[in-house]
Amino acid sequence: MAEVRMRRLKKIPVNNLRDWDNEHVWHPFAPMQAYREENAPIIVSGDGFDLIDAEGKRYLDGISSLWCNIHGHRVPEIDDAVKKQLDQIAHTTLLGMSSPPSIELARKLVEKTPAGLNKVFYSDSGSTAVEAALKIAHQYHHQKPGGSEKRNRFVCLDHAYHGDTVGSVSVGGINLFHQVYGDLLFETLRVPSPVAYRVPAGHTAESYLQHCRDEVVRVLDDHADQISAFVIEPLVQGAAGILIHPDGYLKFIREETARRGILLIADEVAVGFGRTGTMFACEQEDVQPDFLCLAKGITGGYLPVAATLTTDEIYEAFLGEPHEGRTFYHGHTYTGNPLGCAAGIASLDLFEKNRVMKNVAETSMLLTRRLQELVDHPHIGEIRQRGLMVGIELVKDRDGAVPFDSQLRIGHQVTLEARKLGLILRPLGDVIVLMPAPAMPAESVNELCDKAFAAIDATVGG
Ligand code: PMP
Repeated sequence: MAEVRMRRLKKIPVNNLRDWDNEHVWHPFAPMQAYREENAPIIVSGDGFDLIDAEGKRYLDGISSLWCNIHGHRVPEIDDAVKKQLDQIAHTTLLGMSSPPSIELARKLVEKTPAGLNKVFYSDSGSTAVEAALKIAHQYHHQKPGGSEKRNRFVCLDHAYHGDTVGSVSVGGINLFHQVYGDLLFETLRVPSPVAYRVPAGHTAESYLQHCRDEVVRVLDDHADQISAFVIEPLVQGAAGILIHPDGYLKFIREETARRGILLIADEVAVGFGRTGTMFACEQEDVQPDFLCLAKGITGGYLPVAATLTTDEIYEAFLGEPHEGRTFYHGHTYTGNPLGCAAGIASLDLFEKNRVMKNVAETSMLLTRRLQELVDHPHIGEIRQRGLMVGIELVKDRDGAVPFDSQLRIGHQVTLEARKLGLILRPLGDVIVLMPAPAMPAESVNELCDKAFAAIDATVGG
């Protein structure tokens, strides 16, 4: 037995790992031919806000491990919560029964999220959180007293990103990711994204933003009694390149949808849990959505848990005798996993114990100051920031916002330079994303800026 254990603990040589990675692992969102030639880091451990690879090299985690890490890695309180739960049970189903961590986390989420969201439906990724919201909204209109089955269309924004399942792709709008699946998707109504970088010819920034609002009113009016819900990433369209919406846009959408009986699905998968400066982005415009989709940071970035919160009114349309068929027949095997929920409870407790939102306020200001260093950079077209979400758009020529040839993969080249300096980044095309964890201390945020700016200069010149 001891011998077996020893053998298991033996480290696999890096070269073997790399060979097997290239032979067997198909990485998400990765052009695999290029990936296999790049010797990407193989991360074996974490330490605070650093990641350590199989060769012992240390990197600052500049993207919160794909926008989900909150308090750092190997946080004693979250580690202990997961271990304690592991001593009880790793997994039990929520189909027809319950578990203490899923109950406690639901209660805490209801307390912390905008008023009116009293019901929590669990799943396990951002995509499934959105998918559940779309299906619940659809079924709600069928079942609510006086509801209409004609309300079966969804409105979404150009360049939206809500995940990779077929439903969430249907309400997405990023051509590079979504176009190829066009004939698989359900039809949606689209409105332009209210962002004024590269406005269409014939518009000023102001006139374009007004046009975007007018389009919302026109689309909602033209289809008022056919629309089930409006789906939006509140304040920031993340995957589109950290596109920041103008102040008041979210509130405007809430008012225009509420007036016409259209539900609002707020996808806070990326912006939730402190990233935009408040715990949830909807708070900044005092908006109460009908659905709030959460994932990524819900467990502090530890385990795959997601939640779709909704109102009592929507939930009640699903009540009735079993034979009436009003049940929401949807749910995944690992829904509400106790280990993940235990991590989620510990993470929410740490927000208070460590005054994480105070840190967010301070480090957001620090980022704003540091980004000033780039304003005259000849290859930076726009710097976009909301709280801890930063997008630095690299261009060939600032005048006219002329992009680099996409074949150069400039954003990716910056990432490779950053790795040499000990920093993990992941761009969105030629937009360099900085996404420090909400609990990252100022000195690490400074390190992130130093290394990211140096990587940009090393790639495109200063
Ligand atoms: N919605 C938004 C706004 C997102 O940014 C993402 C992921 N980046 C998703 C949904 C999908 O989440 P997941 O990758 O966990 O399915």
